[in-house]
Amino acid sequence: MNTEIINSLRQIVSEENLITDELMSRHTTFRSGGPATLFLRVRTVSELFEVKRILDGDGMPYFVIGNGSNLLVSDKGYDGAVISSELLNGISLVDESTVCAEAGALNSAVASFVRDNSLTGFEFAAGIPGTIGGAMIMNAGAYGGEMKMIIKEVKVLTPDGKEMTLDNEAMEFGYRTSAIKGKGFIVLSALLNLEKGDQGAITDRMTELALKRKEKQPLEYASAGSTFKRPEGYFAGKLIEDAGLKGFSVGQAAVSDKHCGFVINKGGATSSDIYRLIQEVKERVYENSGVTLEPEVIMIGDFT
Ligand SMILES: Cc1cc2nc3c(=O)[nH]c(=O)nc-3n(C[C@H](O)[C@H](O)[C@H](O)COP(=O)(O)OP(=O)(O)OC[C@H]3O[C@@H](n4cnc5c(N)ncnc54)[C@H](O)[C@@H]3O)c2cc1C
Repeated sequence: MNTEIINSLRQIVSEENLITDELMSRHTTFRSGGPATLFLRVRTVSELFEVKRILDGDGMPYFVIGNGSNLLVSDKGYDGAVISSELLNGISLVDESTVCAEAGALNSAVASFVRDNSLTGFEFAAGIPGTIGGAMIMNAGAYGGEMKMIIKEVKVLTPDGKEMTLDNEAMEFGYRTSAIKGKGFIVLSALLNLEKGDQGAITDRMTELALKRKEKQPLEYASAGSTFKRPEGYFAGKLIEDAGLKGFSVGQAAVSDKHCGFVINKGGATSSDIYRLIQEVKERVYENSGVTLEPEVIMIGDFT
């Protein structure tokens, strides 16, 4: 590793925000994953621009992490830089019904902010344990809502280092995808188009959905939420249960008894356990039903 590059990066983000050989199990909700060569927290958008410029110049691979709630990182780790958006987390009111949230703002924090400002439209996302950046990439959604319904525009850093604003249409939001997924764009912030509402009703709806989650999902275990995308015309959890895989495990990774669509870490599962379980589930579901499940979880690194 080039120490000159590391020193330049350290000067930009400060000593405490650059960590070498950082275990990704500390930054993913699966609680698994080996070390990233570099882990950096940027404090401002201009730091992010600078960091990107240096990494591009060096040719070191990198990706941005939000809350790590949809990621499976290999036990071998990631040979490159992981840029965390954690400290880029501002939330502000632009006008009466428009909110600007920076990429690293957690959905839960945005939910509290909009509730406090009596704004409705974001209730569906309050319990999705990711950031606004992750939600833009994935078009996060739940309980009949999705980001597509409330996003006015998204500010991004393009792969060639320019700031650009994409409106809702240009984002091409689809089921757990968007125009910028997997293409090297970095989300900086998003404008949310909400409506004035009744604070009591907003709070009630958020509480109701949180209870539903608690009742239906194995929130007591580490996971990345629904492991597979919903195949058209089916439910992944039902297909998995019908294949006799309820509770099926590989090492400490298991198909949840409570919700078969969730792969959980029962404690100490490796990413390899989780990966092998996912492959086995895919194969057995295909044998049983002829349906091919596609992981929703994004895999990073080498799983061979
Ligand atoms: C218990 C549980 C329940 C869940 N329920 C739901 C649900 O109801 N609905 C739903 O849609 N999802 C759900 N998820 C999955 C997950 O929370 C979402 O996919 C979320 O949007 C991911 O956000 P994140 O910040 O954690 O992204 P990460 O997991 O950190 O990253 C996901 C992808 O986005 C990229 N990314 C993140 N931030 C940026 C950025 N600023 N710029 C560019 N790329 C970026 C990453 O590189 C990666 O490719 C659940 C997960 C868990 C653990």
